Amino acid sequence: MEPRSAHEIWEAALGELQIQVTKSNYRTWLGKTEGLSYESNQLVVGVPNVFIAEYLDRNQRSLIEKTLIGLTHPKVKVVFHLSPDKVSSTQKVSRPGGNSKYTFDSFIVSKCNRLAYAAALSVVENPGRSYNPLFIFGGVGLGKTHLLHAIYNMAQLNNVNALYVSAEQFTNDFVNALREQSNEEFRAKYRSVDMLLIDDIHFISGKEQTEESFFHTFNELHNANRQIVVTSDCPPKSMPQLGDRLCSRFEWGLIADIKPPDFDTRLAILKAKTGRDGENISPDALEFIARQVQHNIRELEGCLHRAIAYARLLGVLLTPELAAKAIEDIASKEQKGTLVTPNLVLEAVASSFQLTLSELKSRKRDRETALARQVAMYLIKEATNCSLAQIGLELGNRDHSTVIHACQKIASDIDNNPYLRRKVSQIKQGISLKQKANTL
Ligand code: ADP
Ligand code: MG
Repeated sequence: MEPRSAHEIWEAALGELQIQVTKSNYRTWLGKTEGLSYESNQLVVGVPNVFIAEYLDRNQRSLIEKTLIGLTHPKVKVVFHLSPDKVSSTQKVSRPGGNSKYTFDSFIVSKCNRLAYAAALSVVENPGRSYNPLFIFGGVGLGKTHLLHAIYNMAQLNNVNALYVSAEQFTNDFVNALREQSNEEFRAKYRSVDMLLIDDIHFISGKEQTEESFFHTFNELHNANRQIVVTSDCPPKSMPQLGDRLCSRFEWGLIADIKPPDFDTRLAILKAKTGRDGENISPDALEFIARQVQHNIRELEGCLHRAIAYARLLGVLLTPELAAKAIEDIASKEQKGTLVTPNLVLEAVASSFQLTLSELKSRKRDRETALARQVAMYLIKEATNCSLAQIGLELGNRDHSTVIHACQKIASDIDNNPYLRRKVSQIKQGISLKQKANTL
Protein backbone atom coordinates (compact mmCIF):
# COMPACT_ATOMS: atom_id res chain seq x y z
CA MET A 1 0.00 0.00 0.00
CA GLU A 2 1.22 3.50 -0.82
CA PRO A 3 2.29 5.43 2.28
CA ARG A 4 -0.24 8.17 2.76
CA SER A 5 0.38 11.74 3.70
CA ALA A 6 -0.66 13.20 7.05
CA HIS A 7 -3.15 15.32 5.17
CA GLU A 8 -4.82 12.30 3.54
CA ILE A 9 -4.86 10.25 6.73
CA TRP A 10 -6.45 13.03 8.71
CA GLU A 11 -9.01 13.79 6.02
CA ALA A 12 -10.06 10.13 6.06
CA ALA A 13 -10.17 10.12 9.86
CA LEU A 14 -12.30 13.27 9.89
CA GLY A 15 -14.71 11.58 7.53
CA GLU A 16 -15.20 8.80 10.06
CA LEU A 17 -15.20 11.04 13.10
CA GLN A 18 -17.92 13.15 11.58
CA ILE A 19 -20.21 10.15 11.85
CA GLN A 20 -19.16 9.32 15.39
CA VAL A 21 -19.61 12.65 17.17
CA THR A 22 -22.46 15.14 17.15
CA LYS A 23 -22.57 17.87 14.51
CA SER A 24 -21.90 20.70 16.90
CA ASN A 25 -19.19 18.78 18.67
CA TYR A 26 -17.54 18.19 15.30
CA ARG A 27 -17.86 21.81 14.26
CA THR A 28 -16.50 23.13 17.53
CA TRP A 29 -13.58 20.83 18.09
CA LEU A 30 -12.64 19.14 14.84
CA GLY A 31 -13.87 21.48 12.13
CA LYS A 32 -10.71 23.59 11.87
CA THR A 33 -8.07 20.93 12.25
CA GLU A 34 -5.54 19.61 9.73
CA GLY A 35 -3.06 16.76 9.37
CA LEU A 36 0.45 18.21 9.69
CA SER A 37 2.84 15.27 9.71
CA TYR A 38 2.93 11.51 10.09
CA GLU A 39 6.15 9.86 11.16
CA SER A 40 7.06 6.79 13.29
CA ASN A 41 3.38 6.09 13.92
CA GLN A 42 2.79 9.55 15.26
CA LEU A 43 0.25 11.80 13.62
CA VAL A 44 0.54 15.51 14.35
CA VAL A 45 -2.77 17.31 14.03
CA GLY A 46 -2.83 21.08 13.75
CA VAL A 47 -5.50 22.94 15.75
CA PRO A 48 -6.43 26.63 15.86
CA ASN A 49 -5.81 27.27 19.56
CA VAL A 50 -4.50 25.75 22.77
CA PHE A 51 -7.93 25.39 24.22
CA ILE A 52 -8.99 23.06 21.44
CA ALA A 53 -5.71 21.18 21.76
CA GLU A 54 -6.33 20.69 25.46
CA TYR A 55 -9.91 19.60 24.92
CA LEU A 56 -9.13 17.11 22.16
CA ASP A 57 -6.20 15.68 24.05
CA ARG A 58 -8.24 15.14 27.15
CA ASN A 59 -11.57 14.05 25.75
CA GLN A 60 -11.25 12.76 22.24
CA ARG A 61 -7.80 11.25 21.99
CA SER A 62 -8.82 7.64 22.49
CA LEU A 63 -11.71 7.92 20.02
CA ILE A 64 -9.40 9.54 17.48
CA GLU A 65 -6.67 6.95 17.96
CA LYS A 66 -9.18 4.15 17.59
CA THR A 67 -10.31 5.70 14.33
CA LEU A 68 -6.73 6.09 13.15
CA ILE A 69 -5.83 2.47 13.84
CA GLY A 70 -7.94 1.37 10.90
CA LEU A 71 -6.23 3.89 8.66
CA THR A 72 -2.63 3.59 9.78
CA HIS A 73 -1.00 1.34 12.36
CA PRO A 74 -2.19 -0.43 15.52
CA LYS A 75 0.24 1.56 17.66
CA VAL A 76 -0.59 4.95 16.21
CA LYS A 77 -0.45 7.98 18.52
CA VAL A 78 -1.95 11.39 17.92
CA VAL A 79 -0.68 14.71 19.22
CA PHE A 80 -2.21 18.16 18.85
CA HIS A 81 -0.16 21.21 17.94
CA LEU A 82 -1.10 24.76 17.08
CA SER A 83 -1.49 25.13 13.33
CA PRO A 84 1.22 27.23 11.72
CA ASP A 85 -1.33 29.61 10.30
CA LYS A 86 -4.23 29.97 12.64
CA VAL A 87 -7.52 29.78 10.88
CA SER A 88 -10.26 32.18 11.75
CA SER A 89 -13.89 31.40 11.40
CA THR A 90 -16.94 33.45 10.65
CA GLN A 91 -19.40 31.44 12.65
CA LYS A 92 -22.16 33.61 14.04
CA VAL A 93 -23.31 33.54 17.63
CA SER A 94 -26.78 32.12 17.61
CA ARG A 95 -29.78 34.13 18.74
CA PRO A 96 -30.94 33.54 22.25
CA GLY A 97 -34.50 32.35 22.35
CA GLY A 98 -37.23 30.52 24.16
CA ASN A 99 -39.73 27.85 23.33
CA SER A 100 -43.14 29.37 23.81
CA LYS A 101 -44.83 26.01 24.39
CA TYR A 102 -42.94 25.57 27.64
CA THR A 103 -44.70 27.73 30.21
CA PHE A 104 -45.53 27.52 33.89
CA ASP A 105 -49.14 26.96 32.91
CA SER A 106 -48.42 23.89 30.87
CA PHE A 107 -46.22 22.37 33.58
CA ILE A 108 -48.00 19.76 35.71
CA VAL A 109 -47.00 20.18 39.33
CA SER A 110 -46.79 17.21 41.69
CA LYS A 111 -44.72 16.21 44.65
CA CYS A 112 -41.98 15.01 42.30
CA ASN A 113 -41.25 18.50 41.00
CA ARG A 114 -43.01 20.92 43.35
CA LEU A 115 -39.87 22.40 44.88
CA ALA A 116 -38.24 23.03 41.51
CA TYR A 117 -41.44 24.56 40.17
CA ALA A 118 -41.96 26.84 43.17
CA ALA A 119 -38.34 27.95 43.14
CA ALA A 120 -38.47 28.69 39.42
CA LEU A 121 -41.57 30.79 39.86
CA SER A 122 -40.12 32.62 42.83
CA VAL A 123 -36.95 33.39 40.90
CA VAL A 124 -38.80 34.99 38.04
CA GLU A 125 -41.01 36.99 40.37
CA ASN A 126 -38.05 38.19 42.39
CA PRO A 127 -34.99 37.98 40.17
CA GLY A 128 -31.70 38.10 42.06
CA ARG A 129 -33.41 38.32 45.40
CA SER A 130 -34.90 34.97 46.29
CA TYR A 131 -32.63 32.06 45.43
CA ASN A 132 -29.42 32.84 43.65
CA PRO A 133 -28.23 30.73 41.98
CA LEU A 134 -31.03 28.28 41.49
CA PHE A 135 -29.71 24.87 40.59
CA ILE A 136 -32.27 22.40 39.19
CA PHE A 137 -31.27 18.81 38.63
CA GLY A 138 -32.99 15.64 37.51
CA GLY A 139 -32.92 12.80 34.99
CA VAL A 140 -33.46 13.03 31.24
CA GLY A 141 -36.89 14.12 30.06
CA LEU A 142 -38.18 15.22 33.46
CA GLY A 143 -38.89 18.86 32.67
CA LYS A 144 -35.68 20.79 33.38
CA THR A 145 -35.61 22.50 30.02
CA HIS A 146 -39.34 23.09 30.25
CA LEU A 147 -38.94 24.98 33.53
CA LEU A 148 -36.00 26.98 32.26
CA HIS A 149 -37.99 28.11 29.22
CA ALA A 150 -40.93 28.89 31.47
CA ILE A 151 -38.69 31.25 33.42
CA TYR A 152 -37.42 32.76 30.19
CA ASN A 153 -40.89 33.30 28.78
CA MET A 154 -42.19 34.87 31.95
CA ALA A 155 -39.12 37.10 32.17
CA GLN A 156 -39.83 38.34 28.65
CA LEU A 157 -43.35 39.30 29.69
CA ASN A 158 -41.92 41.17 32.69
CA ASN A 159 -39.40 43.00 30.49
CA VAL A 160 -36.50 41.36 32.27
CA ASN A 161 -33.46 40.96 30.06
CA ALA A 162 -33.01 37.18 30.20
CA LEU A 163 -30.73 34.93 28.21
CA TYR A 164 -31.34 31.21 27.75
CA VAL A 165 -28.50 29.06 26.41
CA SER A 166 -27.45 25.46 26.59
CA ALA A 167 -24.08 24.87 28.23
CA GLU A 168 -22.95 23.52 24.88
CA GLN A 169 -23.81 26.83 23.23
CA PHE A 170 -21.99 28.66 26.01
CA THR A 171 -18.92 26.53 25.32
CA ASN A 172 -19.14 27.12 21.58
CA ASP A 173 -19.44 30.87 22.09
CA PHE A 174 -16.49 30.81 24.40
CA VAL A 175 -14.36 28.82 21.98
CA ASN A 176 -15.32 31.08 19.11
CA ALA A 177 -14.52 34.15 21.18
CA LEU A 178 -11.07 32.74 21.84
CA ARG A 179 -10.58 31.80 18.24
CA GLU A 180 -11.71 35.11 16.87
CA GLN A 181 -10.33 37.10 19.77
CA SER A 182 -13.73 38.65 20.21
CA ASN A 183 -13.85 38.57 23.96
CA GLU A 184 -15.75 41.84 24.10
CA GLU A 185 -18.65 40.36 22.19
CA PHE A 186 -18.70 37.36 24.50
CA ARG A 187 -18.70 39.55 27.59
CA ALA A 188 -21.36 41.77 26.15
CA LYS A 189 -23.57 38.80 25.48
CA TYR A 190 -23.18 37.06 28.81
CA ARG A 191 -22.32 39.69 31.35
CA SER A 192 -24.88 42.29 30.45
CA VAL A 193 -28.00 40.29 31.22
CA ASP A 194 -30.31 40.46 34.21
CA MET A 195 -30.94 36.77 34.17
CA LEU A 196 -28.72 34.02 32.83
CA LEU A 197 -30.32 30.60 32.25
CA ILE A 198 -27.91 27.83 31.39
CA ASP A 199 -29.27 24.40 30.49
CA ASP A 200 -27.37 21.16 31.07
CA ILE A 201 -24.42 22.65 32.91
CA HIS A 202 -22.93 19.16 33.37
CA PHE A 203 -21.77 19.60 29.79
CA ILE A 204 -18.97 21.93 30.89
CA SER A 205 -17.83 19.77 33.77
CA GLY A 206 -14.19 18.90 33.19
CA LYS A 207 -13.69 21.49 30.43
CA GLU A 208 -11.34 23.62 32.46
CA GLN A 209 -11.23 26.78 30.42
CA THR A 210 -14.98 26.87 29.87
CA GLU A 211 -15.52 26.32 33.59
CA GLU A 212 -13.11 29.11 34.35
CA SER A 213 -14.94 31.42 32.01
CA PHE A 214 -18.29 30.42 33.44
CA PHE A 215 -16.92 30.98 36.94
CA HIS A 216 -16.01 34.57 36.11
CA THR A 217 -19.29 35.19 34.35
CA PHE A 218 -21.05 33.74 37.36
CA ASN A 219 -19.19 35.94 39.85
CA GLU A 220 -19.71 39.09 37.90
CA LEU A 221 -23.44 38.51 37.53
CA HIS A 222 -23.88 37.29 41.07
CA ASN A 223 -22.06 40.29 42.52
CA ALA A 224 -24.39 42.53 40.59
CA ASN A 225 -27.41 40.63 41.95
CA ARG A 226 -28.32 39.25 38.58
CA GLN A 227 -30.26 36.01 38.65
CA ILE A 228 -28.58 32.78 37.59
CA VAL A 229 -30.40 29.50 37.00
CA VAL A 230 -28.71 26.33 35.84
CA THR A 231 -29.94 22.82 35.22
CA SER A 232 -28.00 19.60 35.34
CA ASP A 233 -28.55 15.87 35.19
CA CYS A 234 -27.03 15.43 38.65
CA PRO A 235 -26.33 17.46 41.80
CA PRO A 236 -23.13 19.56 41.91
CA LYS A 237 -21.47 17.18 44.37
CA SER A 238 -21.71 14.21 42.05
CA MET A 239 -19.90 15.89 39.19
CA PRO A 240 -16.42 14.83 40.24
CA GLN A 241 -14.78 16.82 37.47
CA LEU A 242 -16.52 20.04 38.36
CA GLY A 243 -14.07 22.40 40.04
CA ASP A 244 -14.52 22.84 43.80
CA ARG A 245 -14.94 26.57 43.43
CA LEU A 246 -17.82 26.22 41.02
CA CYS A 247 -19.35 23.45 43.07
CA SER A 248 -19.40 25.59 46.19
CA ARG A 249 -20.83 28.54 44.23
CA PHE A 250 -23.78 26.37 43.25
CA GLU A 251 -24.31 25.55 46.88
CA TRP A 252 -24.74 29.21 47.78
CA GLY A 253 -28.25 29.22 46.44
CA LEU A 254 -31.00 26.67 46.25
CA ILE A 255 -30.55 23.19 44.88
CA ALA A 256 -33.86 21.67 43.79
CA ASP A 257 -34.32 18.25 42.29
CA ILE A 258 -36.96 16.81 40.00
CA LYS A 259 -37.78 13.17 40.63
CA PRO A 260 -39.29 10.75 38.13
CA PRO A 261 -43.07 11.20 38.07
CA ASP A 262 -45.28 8.77 39.94
CA PHE A 263 -48.23 7.12 38.25
CA ASP A 264 -50.76 9.83 39.09
CA THR A 265 -48.49 12.54 37.77
CA ARG A 266 -47.88 10.64 34.57
CA LEU A 267 -51.60 10.23 34.11
CA ALA A 268 -52.21 13.92 34.79
CA ILE A 269 -49.56 14.86 32.23
CA LEU A 270 -51.13 12.57 29.65
CA LYS A 271 -54.57 14.02 30.28
CA ALA A 272 -53.22 17.53 29.90
CA LYS A 273 -51.52 16.63 26.63
CA THR A 274 -54.42 14.91 24.89
CA GLY A 275 -56.03 18.24 24.11
CA ARG A 276 -58.83 18.04 21.57
CA ASP A 277 -58.25 14.34 21.01
CA GLY A 278 -59.52 13.60 24.51
CA GLU A 279 -62.93 12.38 23.41
CA ASN A 280 -61.48 9.71 21.13
CA ILE A 281 -59.46 8.13 23.89
CA SER A 282 -60.78 5.65 26.42
CA PRO A 283 -59.57 6.53 29.94
CA ASP A 284 -58.00 3.14 30.49
CA ALA A 285 -55.86 3.72 27.39
CA LEU A 286 -54.20 6.65 29.15
CA GLU A 287 -53.69 4.56 32.26
CA PHE A 288 -52.14 1.88 30.13
CA ILE A 289 -49.68 4.33 28.58
CA ALA A 290 -48.88 5.85 31.96
CA ARG A 291 -47.92 2.41 33.18
CA GLN A 292 -45.68 1.70 30.20
CA VAL A 293 -43.25 4.61 30.39
CA GLN A 294 -42.02 5.48 33.84
CA HIS A 295 -38.78 7.38 33.68
CA ASN A 296 -39.02 9.91 30.92
CA ILE A 297 -41.84 12.36 30.23
CA ARG A 298 -40.59 13.04 26.73
CA GLU A 299 -41.05 9.36 25.88
CA LEU A 300 -44.35 9.30 27.65
CA GLU A 301 -45.54 12.07 25.35
CA GLY A 302 -44.02 10.31 22.36
CA CYS A 303 -46.06 7.20 23.13
CA LEU A 304 -49.23 9.20 23.53
CA HIS A 305 -48.81 10.98 20.22
CA ARG A 306 -48.02 7.80 18.44
CA ALA A 307 -51.05 6.06 19.89
CA ILE A 308 -53.31 8.97 18.98
CA ALA A 309 -51.99 9.05 15.43
CA TYR A 310 -52.56 5.32 15.14
CA ALA A 311 -56.17 5.54 16.34
CA ARG A 312 -56.84 8.51 14.10
CA LEU A 313 -55.48 6.66 11.11
CA LEU A 314 -57.80 3.75 11.75
CA GLY A 315 -60.67 6.06 12.68
CA VAL A 316 -61.40 4.22 15.92
CA LEU A 317 -61.43 4.86 19.66
CA LEU A 318 -58.01 4.61 21.30
CA THR A 319 -58.17 1.57 23.58
CA PRO A 320 -55.41 -0.01 25.69
CA GLU A 321 -55.05 -2.77 23.10
CA LEU A 322 -54.55 -0.29 20.31
CA ALA A 323 -52.15 1.75 22.44
CA ALA A 324 -50.18 -1.42 23.12
CA LYS A 325 -49.81 -2.05 19.40
CA ALA A 326 -48.87 1.51 18.63
CA ILE A 327 -46.17 1.85 21.25
CA GLU A 328 -44.73 -1.64 21.25
CA ASP A 329 -41.28 -0.69 20.05
CA ILE A 330 -40.99 2.59 21.94
CA ALA A 331 -41.72 0.98 25.27
CA SER A 332 -39.31 -1.85 24.65
CA LYS A 333 -36.68 0.71 23.73
CA GLU A 334 -37.14 2.41 27.05
CA GLN A 335 -36.61 -0.91 28.74
CA LYS A 336 -33.48 -1.51 26.75
CA GLY A 337 -32.30 1.97 27.60
CA THR A 338 -32.47 1.28 31.29
CA LEU A 339 -30.96 -2.15 31.08
CA VAL A 340 -27.30 -2.66 31.79
CA THR A 341 -25.85 -5.89 30.48
CA PRO A 342 -23.26 -7.91 32.41
CA ASN A 343 -20.91 -7.46 29.50
CA LEU A 344 -21.11 -3.68 29.73
CA VAL A 345 -20.08 -3.93 33.38
CA LEU A 346 -17.30 -6.41 32.67
CA GLU A 347 -15.81 -4.21 29.97
CA ALA A 348 -15.93 -1.12 32.16
CA VAL A 349 -14.35 -2.91 35.13
CA ALA A 350 -11.65 -4.53 32.99
CA SER A 351 -10.70 -1.24 31.45
CA SER A 352 -10.65 0.57 34.78
CA PHE A 353 -8.33 -2.05 36.30
CA GLN A 354 -6.37 -2.33 33.06
CA LEU A 355 -7.12 -6.01 32.66
CA THR A 356 -8.37 -7.97 29.70
CA LEU A 357 -11.81 -9.55 29.78
CA SER A 358 -10.28 -13.01 29.93
CA GLU A 359 -8.06 -12.05 32.86
CA LEU A 360 -11.13 -10.84 34.67
CA LYS A 361 -12.85 -14.17 34.08
CA SER A 362 -9.72 -16.24 34.71
CA ARG A 363 -8.52 -18.09 37.83
CA LYS A 364 -5.79 -15.50 38.44
CA ARG A 365 -5.76 -14.63 42.12
CA ASP A 366 -3.39 -11.72 42.57
CA ARG A 367 -4.89 -8.89 44.62
CA GLU A 368 -5.76 -6.50 41.81
CA THR A 369 -7.44 -9.13 39.66
CA ALA A 370 -9.35 -10.56 42.61
CA LEU A 371 -10.51 -7.09 43.60
CA ALA A 372 -11.55 -6.27 40.05
CA ARG A 373 -13.55 -9.49 39.89
CA GLN A 374 -15.33 -8.70 43.14
CA VAL A 375 -16.14 -5.20 41.97
CA ALA A 376 -17.56 -6.66 38.77
CA MET A 377 -19.79 -9.07 40.73
CA TYR A 378 -20.98 -6.28 42.97
CA LEU A 379 -21.79 -3.97 40.06
CA ILE A 380 -23.56 -6.63 38.00
CA LYS A 381 -25.66 -7.49 41.04
CA GLU A 382 -26.49 -3.84 41.51
CA ALA A 383 -27.19 -2.90 37.92
CA THR A 384 -28.80 -5.94 36.33
CA ASN A 385 -31.47 -8.51 37.12
CA CYS A 386 -28.97 -11.37 36.92
CA SER A 387 -29.22 -14.11 39.52
CA LEU A 388 -26.24 -14.91 41.73
CA ALA A 389 -25.69 -18.09 39.74
CA GLN A 390 -25.66 -16.17 36.46
CA ILE A 391 -23.18 -13.69 37.88
CA GLY A 392 -20.94 -16.54 38.97
CA LEU A 393 -21.13 -17.94 35.49
CA GLU A 394 -20.21 -14.61 33.89
CA LEU A 395 -17.07 -14.46 36.00
CA GLY A 396 -15.49 -17.78 35.15
CA ASN A 397 -17.98 -20.18 36.65
CA ARG A 398 -17.81 -19.32 40.34
CA ASP A 399 -20.42 -20.50 42.78
CA HIS A 400 -23.08 -18.30 44.26
CA SER A 401 -21.57 -18.12 47.74
CA THR A 402 -18.44 -16.55 46.24
CA VAL A 403 -20.67 -13.97 44.60
CA ILE A 404 -22.52 -13.21 47.84
CA HIS A 405 -19.25 -12.82 49.68
CA ALA A 406 -17.89 -10.47 47.00
CA CYS A 407 -21.00 -8.30 47.01
CA GLN A 408 -20.99 -7.96 50.79
CA LYS A 409 -17.29 -7.28 50.93
CA ILE A 410 -17.33 -4.56 48.28
CA ALA A 411 -20.43 -2.95 49.78
CA SER A 412 -18.70 -2.58 53.12
CA ASP A 413 -15.27 -1.69 51.66
CA ILE A 414 -16.84 1.15 49.69
CA ASP A 415 -18.01 2.66 52.93
CA ASN A 416 -14.57 2.56 54.48
CA ASN A 417 -12.25 3.11 51.56
CA PRO A 418 -12.47 6.41 49.66
CA TYR A 419 -10.14 5.18 46.92
CA LEU A 420 -12.40 2.24 46.16
CA ARG A 421 -15.48 4.40 46.44
CA ARG A 422 -14.12 6.80 43.83
CA LYS A 423 -13.03 3.99 41.58
CA VAL A 424 -16.43 2.31 41.68
CA SER A 425 -18.21 5.56 41.04
CA GLN A 426 -15.96 6.26 38.03
CA ILE A 427 -16.72 2.82 36.66
CA LYS A 428 -20.43 3.47 37.08
CA GLN A 429 -20.13 6.71 35.18
CA GLY A 430 -18.29 4.91 32.42
CA ILE A 431 -21.08 2.34 32.25
CA SER A 432 -23.83 4.92 32.03
CA LEU A 433 -21.95 6.84 29.32
CA LYS A 434 -21.50 3.67 27.27
CA GLN A 435 -25.11 2.78 27.82
CA LYS A 436 -26.22 6.19 26.60
CA ALA A 437 -24.03 5.83 23.53
CA ASN A 438 -25.50 2.41 22.81
CA THR A 439 -29.08 3.60 22.93
CA LEU A 440 -28.54 6.61 20.68
P1 ADP B 1 -35.27 17.61 30.41
O1 ADP B 1 -34.77 18.95 30.02
O2 ADP B 1 -35.33 17.42 31.90
O3 ADP B 1 -34.56 16.48 29.74
P2 ADP B 1 -37.68 18.49 29.13
O4 ADP B 1 -37.89 19.75 29.88
O5 ADP B 1 -37.15 18.61 27.75
O6 ADP B 1 -36.80 17.47 29.96
O7 ADP B 1 -39.07 17.71 29.11
C1 ADP B 1 -39.36 16.70 28.18
C2 ADP B 1 -40.80 16.81 27.74
O8 ADP B 1 -41.64 16.48 28.83
C3 ADP B 1 -41.18 18.19 27.30
O9 ADP B 1 -42.03 18.10 26.19
C4 ADP B 1 -41.91 18.78 28.49
O10 ADP B 1 -42.89 19.70 28.09
C5 ADP B 1 -42.54 17.55 29.10
N1 ADP B 1 -42.66 17.67 30.56
C6 ADP B 1 -41.71 17.40 31.48
N2 ADP B 1 -42.18 17.61 32.73
C7 ADP B 1 -43.45 18.04 32.59
C8 ADP B 1 -44.48 18.42 33.51
N3 ADP B 1 -44.28 18.39 34.84
N4 ADP B 1 -45.67 18.79 33.00
C9 ADP B 1 -45.88 18.81 31.68
N5 ADP B 1 -44.97 18.46 30.76
C10 ADP B 1 -43.76 18.07 31.19
MG1 MG C 1 -33.20 19.41 28.75
